[in-house]
Amino acid sequence: MNFESSRETALKKLGDFINSNLKDYNFKRNFDLGTKNKSNVSCLSPYISHRLITEYEVAKIVLSKFSYQNVDKFIQEIFWRVYWKGWLELRPQVWSDFIEDLKSIKEDDKYLKAVNGETEIQCFNDWVKELKENNYLHNHTRMWFASIWIFTLKLPWQKGAEFFMKHLYDGDAASNTLSWRWVAGLQTKGKHYVAQAWNISKFTNNKYNNVKLNENALPLSDKREYKLKPLNLMYNDETNESLLVFENELSLENQKLKNYKNVYLALLSNEARKLKLEQKVLDFKSNVINDQKKRLKQVQIVDENKLQSLMEKINSYSIDYARTLATWRENFLGVWEKISPLGFDDYFKRMWEFYLSYCEGGFKSKNIDLIQFSMSNK
Ligand SMILES: Cc1cc2nc3c(=O)[nH]c(=O)nc-3n(C[C@H](O)[C@H](O)[C@H](O)COP(=O)(O)OP(=O)(O)OC[C@H]3O[C@@H](n4cnc5c(N)ncnc54)[C@H](O)[C@@H]3O)c2cc1C
Repeated sequence: MNFESSRETALKKLGDFINSNLKDYNFKRNFDLGTKNKSNVSCLSPYISHRLITEYEVAKIVLSKFSYQNVDKFIQEIFWRVYWKGWLELRPQVWSDFIEDLKSIKEDDKYLKAVNGETEIQCFNDWVKELKENNYLHNHTRMWFASIWIFTLKLPWQKGAEFFMKHLYDGDAASNTLSWRWVAGLQTKGKHYVAQAWNISKFTNNKYNNVKLNENALPLSDKREYKLKPLNLMYNDETNESLLVFENELSLENQKLKNYKNVYLALLSNEARKLKLEQKVLDFKSNVINDQKKRLKQVQIVDENKLQSLMEKINSYSIDYARTLATWRENFLGVWEKISPLGFDDYFKRMWEFYLSYCEGGFKSKNIDLIQFSMSNK
């Protein structure tokens, strides 16, 4: 399989898929016809997951050629990723717990047999090999794989999700973690996905028949509850000079880049990652990021060390403080009618108005700042 890492390739793949196979997607998409034939699905996920092309772009191009009724399934699948992203963004603890859980799970013999493709289940072993070689698996195969991992091999779902993340070019914190949780019955509580031999046989065109599986497994359970956590959106106004972009949001075509003095693309090594990736996956990320840089000249690539020193410079409170001062001034003037009868004159009013405006201007222009530092005795 060819996953050349550029936006141009992504757009070409989309164009070819629209011209040749999209019309049959609704009824052919669930078949995994083997490593050499994936033409019934788009294979766009490595690009969409890095947002080298966005969901909205894909939907717009598709809907300019087809009516929604004829491509509804494809459009719905595209927006599954958006849904998962939003879901996790509102419950970030799910990801933190997943990373924390991994620290205490041992890699025993049963686990090693599975990741080396040495189980009793031939189709599973073939998919392990395919994943390592091609860094991609068909959606239905991912569902069978996760189900066999959890319910037949009885391995912890977290290690399966980690194994996928390590090897998939499209490895995505939201789509991957939440899909594994969904198969296990944790995402929609009590509703799990149990792979059935007849289903594997039908949708692999009889390549794998009579696979011995645990078809009557019960869903997993977990006491942890995840409540909605409001988004802490950063106020993005014109005073921001720098834009920092991470690998899962490379849709720079859609940003107003000329508003920024500096645009940084973070290219992180395994040292800076909580979940370590295979070299091929790191190379894929490096190539897509370099492709963006080639096309958008004002962009700079930064590694984790440069990023750290940039953050120290950027991490200033001045803009927030300017906003606080503006609010204080507005509040002060808003209740002046109540203050003046207490014996305060116009001189007092003007002095405070001047002081609060002067400080606001100072913070805005960054002539004054608020910095926190700690000192230690060595
Ligand atoms: C256990 C498991 C793990 C998964 N891990 C990931 C992952 O790490 N990253 C990832 O992008 N997808 C993941 N998926 C979803 C899905 O399998 C892939 O997006 C899909 O197989 C990609 O192939 P495609 O581009 O040919 O898909 P197509 O069928 O052509 O679909 C077009 C696009 O729609 C989106 N999409 C399709 N199905 C889904 C879905 N079920 N959930 C979310 N988005 C979807 C993708 O962006 C995909 O490129 C996972 C699914 C399962 C069951």
